[in-house]
Amino acid sequence: MLRSPLSGDTEAGAAVTLTGWGRTEPTVARVCDPADAAELAILLRHAPARGIIARGLGRSYNNAAQNDGGQVVITTRLSRITDFDTHHGIAVCEAGVSLEQLMITGLPAGWFVPVSPGTRQVTVGGAIAADVHGKNHHAAGSFASHVRWFDLVLPDGQQRRVTPEDDPRVFWATAGGMGLTGIIVRAAVQLTKVQTSRVAVDTVRTTDIDQALAYLADTDQSYTYSVAWLDCLASGARLGRSVITSGNFAQPGDLPLKERRDPLSFRPTARIGAPRSCPPGLVNKHTVALANEAWYRKAARRRAGELQTIGAFFHPLDGIRNWNRVYGPAGFRQYQLVVPLAADRTIRRALERISRAGAPSFVTVLKRFGPGDDGFLSFPMAGWTLALDFPARTPGLAGLLTALDDDVLAAGGRVYLAKDSRLGPDALPAMYPRLPEFRQVRAELDPSGVMRSDLSRRLGL
Ligand SMILES: Cc1cc2nc3c(=O)[nH]c(=O)nc-3n(C[C@H](O)[C@H](O)[C@H](O)COP(=O)(O)OP(=O)(O)OC[C@H]3O[C@@H](n4cnc5c(N)ncnc54)[C@H](O)[C@@H]3O)c2cc1C
Repeated sequence: MLRSPLSGDTEAGAAVTLTGWGRTEPTVARVCDPADAAELAILLRHAPARGIIARGLGRSYNNAAQNDGGQVVITTRLSRITDFDTHHGIAVCEAGVSLEQLMITGLPAGWFVPVSPGTRQVTVGGAIAADVHGKNHHAAGSFASHVRWFDLVLPDGQQRRVTPEDDPRVFWATAGGMGLTGIIVRAAVQLTKVQTSRVAVDTVRTTDIDQALAYLADTDQSYTYSVAWLDCLASGARLGRSVITSGNFAQPGDLPLKERRDPLSFRPTARIGAPRSCPPGLVNKHTVALANEAWYRKAARRRAGELQTIGAFFHPLDGIRNWNRVYGPAGFRQYQLVVPLAADRTIRRALERISRAGAPSFVTVLKRFGPGDDGFLSFPMAGWTLALDFPARTPGLAGLLTALDDDVLAAGGRVYLAKDSRLGPDALPAMYPRLPEFRQVRAELDPSGVMRSDLSRRLGL
């Protein structure tokens, strides 16, 4: 296990090759995992010339938590939940605590994380730094809106408690700021009250994208959580056919009698693991077309009130350990866009481009976002978001994604930085109009550019 020697070394830790979850663009950095905020502050004070960046559980898809030739600080030893107010549902925890840990602690007392991405294997620090969103964005906004305060170790090693009321510029530069304002070491998170750990799920199948958009727009107010899975290879009259699942946490009376004795049970396990090495090309347009057909046909045309566990509803991919290996050694590229609600035509055009190119996105997800928060670089805005993942070796992928970028820009939308692997600096100011405010705070907190990552160098952040 990596341990920081902290013996005056300016580049503490072992040299390690790192990638994001998509396993593209590996780079080598000095990596160490400090035990507490004091060790972490020493590392910041002795940062090497190539700078330093925090890394949580490495679930961002590309190189936000990498730092080629510099220092990477893994936060997962900061893993204590130091206070949990079971009455008000406020958890005070170190930044390396995972959302799964928060669920294990909170659920017995009836508290669930306020926002969950599609995996619970992310840290609280990573959830704030990417200001992550979940299936409830239209109802609850993104993660940072539920953070009461955090302790930030600034690039000069000083520690500061940051609240949205007293220090809004630093708070909203850090929420969504991809680790570039300092390293979060502790946070207070307001959890959400639930009566059970099961979600009552309604499922409908739509024959095309228009039906999917209309259904989500009509029904979002009735559900806390909703998302549409799309068949990205369907074309013509079936373009964007989808399976939509929407749900609310169940009440104890909804559960079968035998489950009512333990309505808040939560047993997070990964059922199987992906093999260490999968052959290249396993995920291709033929296998994805077959899988999509099977998935679509298997889904109920319309089903109401099916009880699903938290794992099945929120984190189905966590059921397979290291599922990212399925894409083979070349890895895969995630791409997530959002466009304003009025730009639904851009979603249609994106699907036309993808199906025409035969580009096999294995997991294609559409969701309707509510209004964004104040994060200068936070991704969500009121609109339609489409998330895709393509094998990195998909023929013509670079051209396809550039065309999508252009459509997104023309529609006034943006691409998600926690998933991005290829944007250049030119697109950024239009996609993120509050970028100058972010840069201003960064210049004040970090005049000598201590905080750096491969992502920040690529985008000139
Ligand atoms: C299967 C899967 C599903 C996903 N679904 C969603 C989704 O539905 N919605 C969504 O929004 N995202 C989603 N994501 C992306 C993921 O939620 C984010 O990338 C999240 O930031 C990952 O957290 P992490 O702890 O792994 O951080 P890392 O990937 O290690 O780091 C991500 C960023 O956070 C910064 N960071 C990490 N810790 C700290 C800290 N303590 N202080 C300051 N900065 C820090 C890093 O520097 C980096 O810039 C998904 C990812 C996967 C693999």
